[in-house]
Amino acid sequence: MAFQQRRFGGSNNSNSRSRGGSFGGGRRGGSKGPAKKYIHPSKFINKAIAKAEEVVYVPTHKFTDFPFGNQLQHNIAKKGYENPSIVQDQAIPYVIEGKDVIGLANTGTGKTAAFLLPIIERQTGISLTPSVLIIAPTRELAQQIDEEFRAFSQGLNLYSALIVGGVSVDRQIRDLKRRPHFIIGTPGRLKDLMNRRLIRLENMTTLVLDEADRMLDMGFLPDIRAIVGEMPVDRQTLFFSATITPEIQALVSSFLKDPVTISVRTSETNEHIEQSVIEARDKMHKVELLTDMLRGDDYEKVLVFGETKFGVQRLSDHLDNSGIPSVAIHGNKNQSQRQRALKQFKDNRVRVMVATDVAARGLDIPNVSHVINFDTPQNYEDYIHRIGRTGRAGASGKAQTFIDIQR
Ligand code: AMP
Repeated sequence: MAFQQRRFGGSNNSNSRSRGGSFGGGRRGGSKGPAKKYIHPSKFINKAIAKAEEVVYVPTHKFTDFPFGNQLQHNIAKKGYENPSIVQDQAIPYVIEGKDVIGLANTGTGKTAAFLLPIIERQTGISLTPSVLIIAPTRELAQQIDEEFRAFSQGLNLYSALIVGGVSVDRQIRDLKRRPHFIIGTPGRLKDLMNRRLIRLENMTTLVLDEADRMLDMGFLPDIRAIVGEMPVDRQTLFFSATITPEIQALVSSFLKDPVTISVRTSETNEHIEQSVIEARDKMHKVELLTDMLRGDDYEKVLVFGETKFGVQRLSDHLDNSGIPSVAIHGNKNQSQRQRALKQFKDNRVRVMVATDVAARGLDIPNVSHVINFDTPQNYEDYIHRIGRTGRAGASGKAQTFIDIQR
C-alpha cells in the first residue's frame, strides 16, 4: 500500500468575528477557554464538491535508502509501510543529520514515524539511560506514540516509559527505575515526576514536542517551559505543530537552534467534504433530528461533536436509550474508559462516537462517514479540524452542523 497524500485546490479562510453570545444553541457550560467566535452559517455549507485531486506522492527516498539497521527495516516492513510519507521522506534525513526540525504537519501525515524511526536508529545499541523525551498533549496521543515505538523497536532492546495522567503512578515509577531509553508522556504528569526527582532530564539528548499548538491551547505552556528548562541546551529538538501562531513562533525561537522547516499541512483541505447545516429550534429539537438521522443506513461511522463533557455524556446516554448504541469520550472519563470507547469505535463495534474537541484531539480515528456538529465549534479552525476526520483516503465525507433556525 502506497502512502497517499491528497491535495485539494484552494482553502476556506477563517474570517469569523467575535460576537457576545454563542451561536447554534451551544453553551460554554462552565468549560474554560476563549470566548466562542461567531461563524457565519454559510461557512458550514459546501455543496459543490471539488473533485479530489488524487496525488500519489512520489517520495525521493525508499525506506531502504535510510541508514537503518536490518531489524528496524524489518519492523518497518512488518508494519506494512512501503514508502515514506511526505513528512517522513523530507524530515528523516535532517533528523539523522542531527538538525533541529519544525514539522508543520497534523495527524494522518505519518509524523510519528518521521521522528521515531531516526531516533530509534540512533538509540540502538546505546546503554540503558533515558535520553529521549517525547511530549504530547493528550494521554491517547502519548499512548499511540508509545504503541508505534513498541512496534518499531521490536528486537532492538529499547525500552520506553509512558508517563501520563489519569492512571496509577506506581507502575510508571517502576518503569522509570528500569532506566528506559524513551520517556513518552503528557506535560502535567511529566512535570510532577520531574519535581519529585523521579525523572532526571540533565542527560537527555533528544526532545520531541508533538502537536505543540494543541499543548498551548490546553494551557500546558508553563509545564512545558519548566520541563524543557531542565534539559541540556545542547540537544536535538523536533517540534511538530499543525499551525504556526506568534506564540508558537516564540516557542520555536526559544527551544530550537537553527531549525529546518518542513510543511505538509493538510488541515484546510475541506473542499471535498460535503458540508451542510441542519436548522433546529432548540436543544430538544436537535436531539430529535439527530436520533432520526442516525437511524439512516448511510450513517455508517459517525463522529458527533458536543461542547461540554456533560452534554456529550447526556447525548450518548440518550442515543443508547433510543436504541442507537454509542460511545462517548470526554474529560470525565478515565484513561481506560476512553481507550475502550475508542477501540470499540475503531473496530466498528459501535457506529456512533460522541466526543468533545479536547478528547478527540490528536486521535488517529479512521475514516468516518459523517461528522456531525451537534454543538457548533469554538472557532473556524476547530471546525476544520473536526470535519477533517471524514472524507479521507478517497472516500467522500459528509459534515453536518446544527444551527439555530434562520429567519
Ligand atoms: P500519524 O500521522 O503519525 O498519526 O500516522 C497516521 C497513520 O498513518 C498511522 O496509522 C500510521 O501507522 C500510518 N502511516 C504512517 N506512515 C506510513 C507509511 N509510510 N506507510 C503507510 N502507513 C503509514
